[in-house]
Formats: sequence, C-alpha cells, structure tokens
Amino acid sequence: MSLAPQPGRQLPLLNEMNRYFWISGATGRLQVLRCGDCGTWIHPYAGLCPKCRSGKLAPEAVSGRGTVVGYTVNQHPWQPDVPVPYVVALVELEEQSNIRLLTNLPGCPIDAVHIGMAVEVCFEDHGDVYVPQFQPRSAA
Ligand SMILES: [Zn+2]
Repeated sequence: MSLAPQPGRQLPLLNEMNRYFWISGATGRLQVLRCGDCGTWIHPYAGLCPKCRSGKLAPEAVSGRGTVVGYTVNQHPWQPDVPVPYVVALVELEEQSNIRLLTNLPGCPIDAVHIGMAVEVCFEDHGDVYVPQFQPRSAA
C-alpha cells in the first residue's frame, strides 16, 4: 500500500549505505540488511555483522509484519505543516527481536494504539524516497 506524502516530512539524503532501505517501498517490500554468513538482520546500516563480524551483508526483503513495542503521542506542533496529534511508534519486526523501526501509524485512531499491536508496513511515497510507515495488520 502506498500513502500520500506527509507535508513537512524531512526526507533522508540517500547514499550507498541507506539507499536500499529508503527505496524498498518502490517494490512494496521493506528491505533490511542481512548477514550472509549467520543470517542476522541488521538495522540501521552497519559495515560488519554485530554477531559474527562478517562483512558479507546484503539487503533482503522482510515480511513487513511487526509489533508495536512502544509509542508516544506528539501533541506539539514542531512543524507548522504537520498536523497534530500524531503517534510516534517503535515497531519491532517479526524477523528478529532487536530489529526496530521508529515510525508513525497513519490512519490508525490514536485511542486504538497499544503495546503488542500487530502492524504491517506501508510506504509514504515521495517519488524517490519511500518512508516506511505502519498500520494495523489486516485479518487476512
Ligand atoms: Zn553474521
């Protein structure tokens, strides 16, 4: 699923260390770095595997499914273009317990957000950058 760009969103500068992550929404599949020797998922980017020290790392698609492990509701209008309130959530991917993304839950009522909430990735489409966002997981 693709979302309209959020006004006021600060976009990352792409480089060879992060491009795979920020453009992965073009295919609809979130990609995270993975160690080719021991299979450890790595996020954010690192030059070596933190588990086995291998440098044989490559982006690989993950399921896009995760769980909300923390969140806060921002009430302050830090940027005039960004409507408040909105949720800032920490989502843990199902592939590995320590792979977490700081994200938003657009379209999800704030009162419905809770720790343990099952979510799935969607992407905010900025043309050359796709910001991973999450929404409640569909029952299917
Ligand atoms: Zn490794």
